[in-house]
Amino acid sequence: MKPTELLQLADQFGCPLYVYDAAKIEAQYKRLTDAFSKVEDLRINYAVKALSNVTILKLFKKLGSGLDTVSIQEVQLGLHAGFSPDKIIYTPNGVSFEEIEMAAELGVQINIDNLSVLEHFGAKHPKVPVCIRINPHVMAGGNSNISVGHIDSKFGISIHQMPHILRIVENTGMHINGIHMHTGSDILDIEVFLYAAEILFEAASHFKELDFLDFGSGFKVPYKKDDIETNVEEFGKKLSKRFNEFKKEYGRPLALAFEPGKFLVSEAGHFLAKVNVVKQTTSTVFAGIDSGFNHLIRPMFYGSQHQIENISNPKGKERFYTVVGYICETDTFASNRRIAEIHEGDVLCFKNAGAYCFSMSSNYNSRFKPAEVLWHEGKGILIRERETLADILKNQIAIDL
Ligand SMILES: *Cc1c(COP(=O)(O)O)cnc(C)c1O
Repeated sequence: MKPTELLQLADQFGCPLYVYDAAKIEAQYKRLTDAFSKVEDLRINYAVKALSNVTILKLFKKLGSGLDTVSIQEVQLGLHAGFSPDKIIYTPNGVSFEEIEMAAELGVQINIDNLSVLEHFGAKHPKVPVCIRINPHVMAGGNSNISVGHIDSKFGISIHQMPHILRIVENTGMHINGIHMHTGSDILDIEVFLYAAEILFEAASHFKELDFLDFGSGFKVPYKKDDIETNVEEFGKKLSKRFNEFKKEYGRPLALAFEPGKFLVSEAGHFLAKVNVVKQTTSTVFAGIDSGFNHLIRPMFYGSQHQIENISNPKGKERFYTVVGYICETDTFASNRRIAEIHEGDVLCFKNAGAYCFSMSSNYNSRFKPAEVLWHEGKGILIRERETLADILKNQIAIDL
């Protein structure tokens, strides 16, 4: 999107504001499906938690995507958006047994990542097909909070516990229809991923009635200038070839599934915030915006570096700034960052604000969550209203004591 278009939306809808470019989401979706065009049955299940606005989910439905969900609420959102249950996979971790049963009741694909749950579920619902999430113990992923496939991870059933998995399946007579892994976000190295894939193939060979193999996600997108990104095209070529070979050996139609979040929506998102104050101190120039980690927590939580552009003065002379929020504790978005000269009232644009930005926002400091706008065919469409004080007070019970 052009700075002028973004600036116009900031004007029209106010700041802070999230803007998502529908065309970019579509382009990323197409990039992925093109990369795997040699796979007969490819299933893309968009990871709802990255950005869960219902209109975004409807956009994915239109594209032919399924959904990856991690909570019963995400399942319900998906159904609300019009997805049929068989297009939704539910991959919980550490949720109650009742929640898993509820999801099964709704008819979505259950993915289990715990031996005791597998045993309990298989004994009680032997007729419900289940996918098993394995942990291949492959070290992948960037920040340790999003690297979930390593040996100490709480996710998945260890690949070394395969004999135990098989015993449970045999004893309960349950039907395993898929094998899944998700080693974490930010996979830099295709070879590492392909190595993990071999482990998945080996695991899959123990089951005779699989319908799909789910390779999770982990596609990395560039955040900073010169950032490495997953070479999806090369990855697609290599994994497709290997998958098709395996399928032949396996002797049964098999779908290949992915569940990307970040890859599909990160770059489509722009977060627009207005500069309230420019403050010179002994060490730096602060630009203080009308937002904080209540709206965008990734820089503080993951140390992620979102590019920041001054769309009010895009051609201005570049100077060094520390961009901070208004929260009453340290909330630094960027330190010592080169940005076109900032004046109070300017609108800054944070890039890569599609994934894990709005969906991780909160009402901390009793602030309103921002509005969300979808940029679609040259027009900005409001897809979430800015909150009001009524939203903050909703569910609160004021008692005079
Ligand atoms: C979060 C998550 C994803 C999506 O990860 P991205 O890095 O956003 O692509 C996929 N699968 C599962 C099970 C997840 O928890």
